[in-house]
Amino acid sequence: MTTVGILGGGQLARMLALSGAPLGLRFLVMDTEADACAGQFAPLLVGDYRDEAALAEFASKVDVATFDFENVPAESAEWLAARVPVFPSPRALSVAQDRLVEKNLFRSLGIPVGEYAAVSTRDGLETEVARIGGPCILKTRRLGYDGKGQFRIRSAADIEAAWQALGAQATTVGLIVEAFIPFQRELSVVAVRGRDGEFRTWPLTENWHVDGVLSASVAPATLDDGLAQLAYGYANQLAEALDYVGVFALELFCKDGQWLANEMAPRVHNSGHWTIEGAETSQFENHLRAVLGLPLGDTRMLGHACMLNWIGELPERNSVLGEPAGHWHDYGKLPRTGRKVGHATLREDSAVALADALQRVGATLGRESQVASPIGRLAD
Ligand code: AMP
Repeated sequence: MTTVGILGGGQLARMLALSGAPLGLRFLVMDTEADACAGQFAPLLVGDYRDEAALAEFASKVDVATFDFENVPAESAEWLAARVPVFPSPRALSVAQDRLVEKNLFRSLGIPVGEYAAVSTRDGLETEVARIGGPCILKTRRLGYDGKGQFRIRSAADIEAAWQALGAQATTVGLIVEAFIPFQRELSVVAVRGRDGEFRTWPLTENWHVDGVLSASVAPATLDDGLAQLAYGYANQLAEALDYVGVFALELFCKDGQWLANEMAPRVHNSGHWTIEGAETSQFENHLRAVLGLPLGDTRMLGHACMLNWIGELPERNSVLGEPAGHWHDYGKLPRTGRKVGHATLREDSAVALADALQRVGATLGRESQVASPIGRLAD
């Protein structure tokens, strides 16, 4: 009997555990919160990731460890890796935890990125904003997610407010300032690499964010084949450079027919949730296969899929369940502003049928604005 340990007990761990059940796997989830939603399906160990006694208990009970949460301290991941196999490796995790290190790696691999610079003082911020020119975004280097720890600088007049908001974090998690990219489209490559180096990607996914949080994803993204191959190539290079094992997502901006990489997420990713019903093998199952050294499953798509995220609270579910290929995911979390509490995936054989289904669901739920961009793209 194999037990997979997962650090972090949110919806990603929950969906990993659900996808591992047919493989006969057991799970142990570790989280700092006693009500972590993966705990509804797998034994939960409540503890701080820096607590060696808790980590030792975790290590003694699992055969392999992985993450649902990339901000587990790198030292904890290393401590664990000395005792039990950990995938992705602590090195891959630590690169992806730091926006500056990550962007430096992209650049060294020839993966295009917008202008950026590390910032440690207010004067430094002023200098870099002037050098970059135009609107910028100040971000924390570490511990930011879903648009948190970010401040838009539209002009030099915003520098004071940006520094007030984030300056105190310059000495703790570090800061990076990036050029604001006026992209036309935002896409992601969700990919998996096995222990033996086998590499596969799911078809490119197009994503729409609201307030920095993913709102909707459509796959396959309609895109020039050459551009798509470039994106798959970047993901492959990244996976090789990090000797990566497991699923990851590479988030890309598309501007004037060119790619600019935003960041990588060293875990299963929200923009890959559609793979549960929309692909031959889901990102969750393939992540487990990868970390266990099992053969990877086919990443081929089954038709066209759109995922809608439920943020804050769940809408009424029957309009999704009433769709021929509507699938409902309730993460078992209490409603809270800004919290990801569930998602729905609609899957159809054609783009036209998917757009029609989205239209119906959007109208019934009064969520026309959430489905508008996906419908617009499907009509292209
Ligand atoms: P992040 O946490 O870096 O993924 O940022 C969340 C979202 O904010 C992204 O998905 C984009 O929609 C937007 N964003 C982040 N960085 C930039 C940038 N440099 N230029 C334009 N939009 C950005």
